[in-house]
Amino acid sequence: MRTLIRDCNIASPGFEVKHGSILFKDKIIYSILTPGESLPDADITVQADGLTAIPGLIDIHCHGRNNCDFTDGKVEGVNTIGINKLKEGVTMMLPTTLTQSEEALEAAFDSIAHYNGKGVKMPGIHLEGPFINPSEVGAQNPAFVRMPDIKLVERLNQIYPIHKVSFAPELPGGDTFVTDLLAMGIVPSAAHSSAKYSEFFRCYAKGLRNLTHFCNQMTPLHHREIGLVGAGLLHTNVFAEMICDLMHNGANMIKLAFKVKGTDHMILITDAMRAAGMPEGEYDLGGLAVMVAAGAARLKENAALAGSVLRMNVALKNVVESTGLPLSEAVRAGALNPAHSLSYPNVGRIETGFTADVALIDDNYIVHNTFVDGEMRYSLD
Ligand SMILES: [Zn+2]
Repeated sequence: MRTLIRDCNIASPGFEVKHGSILFKDKIIYSILTPGESLPDADITVQADGLTAIPGLIDIHCHGRNNCDFTDGKVEGVNTIGINKLKEGVTMMLPTTLTQSEEALEAAFDSIAHYNGKGVKMPGIHLEGPFINPSEVGAQNPAFVRMPDIKLVERLNQIYPIHKVSFAPELPGGDTFVTDLLAMGIVPSAAHSSAKYSEFFRCYAKGLRNLTHFCNQMTPLHHREIGLVGAGLLHTNVFAEMICDLMHNGANMIKLAFKVKGTDHMILITDAMRAAGMPEGEYDLGGLAVMVAAGAARLKENAALAGSVLRMNVALKNVVESTGLPLSEAVRAGALNPAHSLSYPNVGRIETGFTADVALIDDNYIVHNTFVDGEMRYSLD
């Protein structure tokens, strides 16, 4: 099966072309054609009419969408999220769980294991908590917080593969936990933490190279104790996930992070909860009441931000507008860097031999088509 996308601008990390064409052969990008080259025959031709092709976005931190949350433990909910994430130009995501009881996590994992696979790809799970600092719970339910427990990770990993664990590195046994996760091929990431820089560094020495929702629910930068925010800025080889909704982080913080860290280790995430893609109003987040108004999801109890209603295509727009980076650079943070942080090969670029995961967007970042493994799975009209 050969699919030709005709007359698209291509914006891929380190590569830009105007009015090019892309040929998929089955699940692979077979060739990229520049203007003037004769177009090959194809089974399906998609007329892009000057839309911009970007590598499919990869959202490695997302709890839900369309009134469904992965922690609901319902297969229909997983299917709904999977199909609707395509509207954001996303081709791959890590379903992300909330700090919950082991039974609730088992149900969530089981529902993800039964995903129908018709939307975005879900290669593994991001386990956010329950190993977090009780003083930095944010919108995680404090009732289910517990200490790092590799046995729990092993049990859940039997149900569906865990690819990333977010935990507080300062908790007892945090450094051994890093070693144990890495031995299982799981990416450890610091989150919901009041770690001092020295506590971060103890885990860095064991291989910790990721920070979860950088700047949110972590020790801020102080000039005598630089905390996790300082650690992320200082160590440019540490991947930093960032919620670029202009509420969890202001435009200048986004600009600062990209300026100091460069474009190779910044990662766009949504951290979206069930209200993403839904009208504003009242929703539940892991048993906590949340009000969504003026584009922000906040706990009813104390107005703390409670996940987001951000979409990945909007995150990309916000980064381009906040930083002034060209789209072909900004898209690294939305596609290639998340893939690199998880050691996923052959995704995140529009390049010959890479997986045919591509989105077509217009100048307002509205997604017109999303292709997963070379198959058009979403069309705006
Ligand atoms: Zn969180």
